[in-house]
Amino acid sequence: MSTQNYYKANLRDLSFLLFEQFKLEELLGKEPYANWGKDEVVAVLEEAYGWALKHMGPYNRLGDEEGCRLEDGQVKVPAAFKDTWKALYEAGWRTLAIEEAHGGQQGPFTLAMLVEEFMCGSNTSFNMYPALTQGAADVILAFGTPEQQQTYVEKMFNGQWAGTMCLTEPHAGSDVGSASTIATRRPDGKYNIKGTKIFISGGDQDITDNIIHMVLARTPDAPPGTKGLSLFIVPKKRLDGSPNDVAVAGIEHKMGIKASATAQLVFGDNDDCIGELVGTQEQKGMSQMFHLMNYARIGVGLQGLAIASSAYLNALEYAKDRKQGSSIKQWKDATAPRVPIIEHPDVRRMLLDMKSRVEGIRALAVKLTMHVDRANAITKAGGDKAQAEYHQGQVDLLVPLLKAYASDQAFLICATAIQVYGGAGYLKDWPVEQYARDSKIFSIYEGTNHIQAMDLVGRKLMQRGGANVQAFAKDVSTFVSAHKDHPVLKDGVAALGQAMEAMTATGGKFMQWFGGGKMEMVPTVANRFLEMMSETVIGWLLLEQAVIAEAAAAKLPADHPDKAFYDGKRYAALYFAYNVLPGVAAKAQLIAREDRTALDIPVAAFAPA
Ligand SMILES: Cc1cc2nc3c(=O)[nH]c(=O)nc-3n(C[C@H](O)[C@H](O)[C@H](O)COP(=O)(O)OP(=O)(O)OC[C@H]3O[C@@H](n4cnc5c(N)ncnc54)[C@H](O)[C@@H]3O)c2cc1C
Repeated sequence: MSTQNYYKANLRDLSFLLFEQFKLEELLGKEPYANWGKDEVVAVLEEAYGWALKHMGPYNRLGDEEGCRLEDGQVKVPAAFKDTWKALYEAGWRTLAIEEAHGGQQGPFTLAMLVEEFMCGSNTSFNMYPALTQGAADVILAFGTPEQQQTYVEKMFNGQWAGTMCLTEPHAGSDVGSASTIATRRPDGKYNIKGTKIFISGGDQDITDNIIHMVLARTPDAPPGTKGLSLFIVPKKRLDGSPNDVAVAGIEHKMGIKASATAQLVFGDNDDCIGELVGTQEQKGMSQMFHLMNYARIGVGLQGLAIASSAYLNALEYAKDRKQGSSIKQWKDATAPRVPIIEHPDVRRMLLDMKSRVEGIRALAVKLTMHVDRANAITKAGGDKAQAEYHQGQVDLLVPLLKAYASDQAFLICATAIQVYGGAGYLKDWPVEQYARDSKIFSIYEGTNHIQAMDLVGRKLMQRGGANVQAFAKDVSTFVSAHKDHPVLKDGVAALGQAMEAMTATGGKFMQWFGGGKMEMVPTVANRFLEMMSETVIGWLLLEQAVIAEAAAAKLPADHPDKAFYDGKRYAALYFAYNVLPGVAAKAQLIAREDRTALDIPVAAFAPA
């Protein structure tokens, strides 16, 4: 089994985002981040990266090779994961953003999420176990009774117990509302749980003493659909240590994330599975689960970013080293020396394409998490309510973009990274083939990317009467007006302005369709619209980075190491503006055409039966 560690991250980009673009220091040194200063943040990032390289990276390939096994009803994960789990909770990385009152360090959410990038990038499979545990504990903390919080949360935050989220059933995937697991109230106020859940990440493992399953189920008299769902705490073992009639019927054999156990769980096969309602009210399951899902969706976006970033950085290193062919400038000279493939125009194009997308997606992620932190800081200080609503509104708007765009792009970026390696990339000798396999699931779980696109166009665009999207549009136009005459970036800024106009016009189309009986056009183009909006945000954030970088570079001597970093920001922004942003207007034209071919084609015409 290989313990070769290929994980790479770009710490300079992280500090640029935090302190030069998004001004995290404005929030530091005062409540709720009173114990945090810039030095502490930088130290945590450096230490966490080193920690991930040492404790998680070496077991990424190993986990892929070893996978999980089901033996006598018990799932066994790679043995190395047990020590990693122990070291993780001893190091305190999982509690960075948890409030001090609950045993955490009360740091900015943004910092915790950048540490999350190292964790999911260095070992995606392993990180699924603690990440889902944290999500499950957060839900109990947000909605559970004081007794439930006391019983479960601390043990889940300190890694003694793990957690899962159990929504999916064999007939209820995207259609969560058709879940049929039944919860029948018992005389003692608890519930008997009966039903089958499939595809449950971390559904069983041999790392922790107990696993706390968060199970969506319906009471016998509940209405159909999502409204009738309630959320239950269902431990694998009862508090006295006896089994709770939760059986593992099987684990899936998958394309990637092989060391993350994906289990089929049968609850109450012997009519002896007992669960507790989260909080005191039935039929609140979906809204409670949404609390978890919002953060889980940010987490999936980060999974995509993390793998894509490491795929890019590995491909870059390979391209500097691998020699093949001579320079195009010496194409007539058969004796010309071989050059590293990074000298070839098409390889440079692929690398810059990956760089601009990775750094743009990271900027989108940090913009989103900084809105979380700013909303939190304002609310805790009893500050301006409208400002807090603005920040929360931007979070709501950006979550589907981050989840879907980062996850779709992750797979494509991994494919490009494989292309940079040539045949070597297709081999297990290098990390990118595993990255490609591991990353495909990100566009499927936590709501497929079509579900995200429908959330955006069907819900988020209209939220607060359209105020969130209007505030977003205003922020972009303020930037365009401020920089339309920038000596170096003005053509890029013009491309952003055109993309924004195209996006706004398409938003208007949705309104027409909703009102004019053409509802079926909305899902037909929703994914394309999500792409348009994501690319507009990313184009904007990359150009903003370039504006900052240009100003900073002008103050540096030519031989300063940051010069090249700042130059890179300009190239990435202009590449994206010239090569990706024009696609936004092109997509708007496609949408305006109201093409119905995919709707009208009869099923029989796809292929003969
Ligand atoms: C490795 C792995 C880990 C997972 N972990 C968990 C977990 O921890 N907990 C959990 O509860 N679940 C988990 N899942 C389940 C995952 O969330 C579902 O696979 C996902 O929600 C999609 O459901 P489905 O697979 O049934 O696909 P379907 O719902 O059958 O969808 C198939 C296709 O049809 C499309 N589609 C479906 N309905 C519509 C519609 N109304 N309109 C338009 N298109 C539609 C989908 O977008 C998709 O392209 C996991 C799955 C995998 C593979």
